[in-house]
Amino acid sequence: MSIFRFKCMLCFVVVVLWTVACSFSSFLPSFSATPVVVAPTPVLPSPTVTLSFGSLQAPASPTPAVGFSVRTHPDGSLYVGDQVSLEVLPPDGFETDNKSVEVQFQGQVLGAQPFRPFGIAERQQATFFWIWDTAELSAGAHVLTFVVQPDGFSWTETFTLRPATEVPSPEPAARWESLTSDCCLIYYITGTDAHRDLEFLVEMAEGEAERVEAHFGVPFQERIPLTFLPRVLGHGGFAWDGVYVSYLDENYAGGATRQVIHHEMVHWLDARQGGDLRPSILVEGLAVYLSGGHFKEEPILPRAAALLDLNWYIPLRELTDAFYTSQHEIGYLQAAALVAYLIKTFGWERFDDFYRDIHPAADGKQSSALEIALQKHFGLRLEALEADFLVFLRAQDVDDAHRADIRLTVAFYDTLRRYQQRFDPSAYFLSAWLPDIAEMRRRGIVADLLRRPRAPINQKIEGLLIAADVALRAGDYAATESLLRQVMTLLEQ
Ligand SMILES: [Zn+2]
Repeated sequence: MSIFRFKCMLCFVVVVLWTVACSFSSFLPSFSATPVVVAPTPVLPSPTVTLSFGSLQAPASPTPAVGFSVRTHPDGSLYVGDQVSLEVLPPDGFETDNKSVEVQFQGQVLGAQPFRPFGIAERQQATFFWIWDTAELSAGAHVLTFVVQPDGFSWTETFTLRPATEVPSPEPAARWESLTSDCCLIYYITGTDAHRDLEFLVEMAEGEAERVEAHFGVPFQERIPLTFLPRVLGHGGFAWDGVYVSYLDENYAGGATRQVIHHEMVHWLDARQGGDLRPSILVEGLAVYLSGGHFKEEPILPRAAALLDLNWYIPLRELTDAFYTSQHEIGYLQAAALVAYLIKTFGWERFDDFYRDIHPAADGKQSSALEIALQKHFGLRLEALEADFLVFLRAQDVDDAHRADIRLTVAFYDTLRRYQQRFDPSAYFLSAWLPDIAEMRRRGIVADLLRRPRAPINQKIEGLLIAADVALRAGDYAATESLLRQVMTLLEQ
């Protein structure tokens, strides 16, 4: 669950620690049999956008604008009063170096942004946060002009604003609120499920903060900024300038609020214990290990050993150097088992000394940095550590339930990500729409988090995913598989 927000993501310079991510499975024939991430999505145009390349102008360059797509935020319909953000995505093969996009409205330049990497996927795009203030506009169609510089070609797109009176509940009254508890500074939006369940959530946060302190053996030195999001983003949690947890009745990413809070609080406390370079595999491994599981409390070692039976084990060097783009559930589980193995073998203090004494290697690879520290602290090459780790895993008692549960856990999250890529792309972890939430609070913006796709297909699939999660947590593997097959059928239509 961790990611380098906008190291990758929007050029913000903060570390984001996700709760989960990636894709595949063998439970259905249509899935890839290889544990690799599905490539970042073909992005769907917003339903409110009318692509109007008919008005394309090509003054200075023969480069066609056809193939550019524009996504709007908030998701879904736009309403008078929205502060609209835009993502401009170039067509495949378009050379974006040293190019930018300028957005014009009614003869005025709203802003210009260069193409640059966005999200974990580092997708090239021009991103405009809250660039178009529609507060003074009338309902109806409005035209924005997009100009690619220095090429000079342009095109227009028409957006329809619905009347402000039609904005969906809990808007327009919804607003940011906060409260202070012993552990946390808690942020939420009024009128949401988190607001309704606030007392329960505060109690949960207090309990998890105490457990994290006990696991770590050190106290939090400051209150943790903890924000409850009324929308699924990624897999339901991340940490960056605070801890962010999705909380909504229709949380199709799994009912793991307590686990996610714990995981992200571990990241928060871990980051404050120092360390020059903390490799992602150990950051996430530690969070899962100290949380007693990834999305639920689970027997980490036998489940990791089950990966060997399934031929899903990822070699450590490969996993270390591509942690967030490796199959997500497998990577996190292996990482947790590795941390468990290191702590069991060398003890917490020696592990912690090693973990806090890892430094960037000359080749820039996390595996090289890890190996230098392994040699310094334990006299081990990475391959030697891996050989011992595999012997340790093969000695675990693995039963059919372990294999079935991890197989279907992988299948569940692969299916979920496929759903996000096709029908809820703003939530897909590799290119999720994660604006600066502190800035949203300052500006009083809530719509980017409140609005999400609610078409019948969204409701149908999300309902099936929620049911599959319940079945999986109950150990009803036949029902889980059946429900996931239903989702896949819908996704393939
Ligand atoms: Zn994490």
